[in-house]
Amino acid sequence: MSGFLPSGINIVLSILGIITVGSIFAIISNSTIDRIPKNQSIINPGPYCKTCAAKLFWKDLIPIWSYFHSKGKCPYCNDPIPQRNLIVDIAQVGWVAIYITLLGWSYQAVLEMVFGMVLIAIIVIEKENRRLSDLILLLLGMLSVIYLLSFQPSNFPMSVIGFLVGGIILGLYNGLKILTRTKSHIDIAEIKFGAILGLFLGISQIVLCVFVALLIGAIGGSFRIKFMAKDYYSAVPEFPLLMAVAGLITILFGQEMLILYHMGVD
Ligand SMILES: [Zn+2]
Repeated sequence: MSGFLPSGINIVLSILGIITVGSIFAIISNSTIDRIPKNQSIINPGPYCKTCAAKLFWKDLIPIWSYFHSKGKCPYCNDPIPQRNLIVDIAQVGWVAIYITLLGWSYQAVLEMVFGMVLIAIIVIEKENRRLSDLILLLLGMLSVIYLLSFQPSNFPMSVIGFLVGGIILGLYNGLKILTRTKSHIDIAEIKFGAILGLFLGISQIVLCVFVALLIGAIGGSFRIKFMAKDYYSAVPEFPLLMAVAGLITILFGQEMLILYHMGVD
């Protein structure tokens, strides 16, 4: 996009791009979060109000803006729209804005941003205590394979090891939960999620991602125990949720973090 356009125009085009892509992500992910756990199609029927079933038009679907314009209520039946919709809107537009500011536009960026969009949807699904469906994992798996074959075909063998390591870590986590009697059975969907994240990130970055997840869990958990008087089990979020958050951080800063690490070791 750069080169022959004055930089002012580039910045304006970039902001328009961020708003457009972020808005599309927000609409897709809110609908995915609502429909996939119920095994409903994301496309058909089109967007509608969950209370009065009124069809929603484009003007009702502009992320963030529509929510405030209709004062957080359905414009047809006045029923409150879940606050989560607004939070997802802000998270998706924010994710695209941070990604583009740090890493810029490229073909690779498109796939990495879409992968991040799905991770944000997974964070919300995990937070709402719903199971990760096979459909969302299939989507994530396909994205990973397309990404690897398009941009890092030579990394493929190492990515397969990342796939195994990611799956084993989530498997161990599930085993630990059963041993401590906080869970009654192994959640295969969580193991699949770990494996796919490992495939996408590759071996060094999935290990980094696990450390980042543990760090966020430790810092966030201590903070909530100290200041919000939570007990240990309700203070520390579930590990798959932490892995999804850490996955976003790894996509943004993984390369730099690994370079810094190697500089420290050598
Ligand atoms: Zn309504």
